[in-house]
Amino acid sequence: MAFLNVPRLLDFAKTPPHLQFNKYVLTGYRPVATAQDCLCSLFYLHNEFGNIYTHGIPFLFFLVFLPLSLPWVEGQWWLCLVHYLACLSPTVGSVLYHIFMNHEGGAHVYDTLLSLDMFGVCLVNTLGALPIVHITLLCYPVSRLAAMLSYTLLSAYGIYSATTARSNTRRLRAFAWQALFRLGLFLLRWGGPGAGSPSSLRLFLTMDLLALLGGLVNISRVPERFHPGLFDYWCNSHQIMHVLVICSIVYLHWGMMEDLAWLRTFQCPGEG
Ligand SMILES: [Zn+2]
Repeated sequence: MAFLNVPRLLDFAKTPPHLQFNKYVLTGYRPVATAQDCLCSLFYLHNEFGNIYTHGIPFLFFLVFLPLSLPWVEGQWWLCLVHYLACLSPTVGSVLYHIFMNHEGGAHVYDTLLSLDMFGVCLVNTLGALPIVHITLLCYPVSRLAAMLSYTLLSAYGIYSATTARSNTRRLRAFAWQALFRLGLFLLRWGGPGAGSPSSLRLFLTMDLLALLGGLVNISRVPERFHPGLFDYWCNSHQIMHVLVICSIVYLHWGMMEDLAWLRTFQCPGEG
C-alpha cells in the first residue's frame, strides 16, 4: 500500500530491552517509531495488532451502546454515570498503551503508557464497585458511607501499587485487597443484611472470577510458553487476558442492570 509505510518487523533479540517483556513471543515486533507511524500500525499485522483490537473494538461498542442500555432515571443517573466510566476505563488506557508502546521516546514513554494502562484497570475496579457498595448497604447509610470511603482508600493504595509495580505478579497482587473487600460485600448479600437484586450476585461473582482468570493467564504465559513463536500474532496469553477482561466487564454490566432494575421497586424497611 503506497500510503502506508509498513516497516520490516523485528525478532525478539533485535527489539529494545523495554519491549522484551515476553520471551515466548519471538517475532513480529514493530521497530521504534514516531507517533504517526505507531498510528499507521493499526493497518498492518504485527504482534500487538490483536492486543489493540481486542480492546479497541469493545471500547467503541461500549462507548456507543452502554449509554443506550442504561436507565438514566431520577436518583440513578450518578450510578449509571459511574458504571459507564468504569466500563470504558480499562479499554482506553490499554488501546493507547498497545498502539504507542514502541514510540521513539523509549523506556520513559513505555513506562508512562504502562502506568496509564494499569490506571484504567484500577478505575474499573474502583468505579465499577462503588455502585455495588452503595446498593449492598442501601438501608444502612452510616455503614454505606464508611464502606465507600474505605473502598476508595483501598483503591488509592491499589492504584499506587499497580502503577509502580515492576512485575505482572505484583500488579495482580495490587488488586487483591479490593477483591477481598468485594468478596465481603458479596457475603453480606448472600443470606446477610446486604441489599441488591437476588440474581446479580451470581453475575458479579462471575465477573471477578473471569478477571482473576485473566490475570493468572497473563502471568502464566500460557499457551506460548509451550510453543514459543507459534502464538506471536494470535491467541497468546495477553490476548486471552484481554478477551477475559471484556467478558468480565460484560458480567459487571449485566449485574448492574439487574441491580438498577431491582432498585426502582425496592424500599428499605421503615421507609415510605
Ligand atoms: Zn494489554
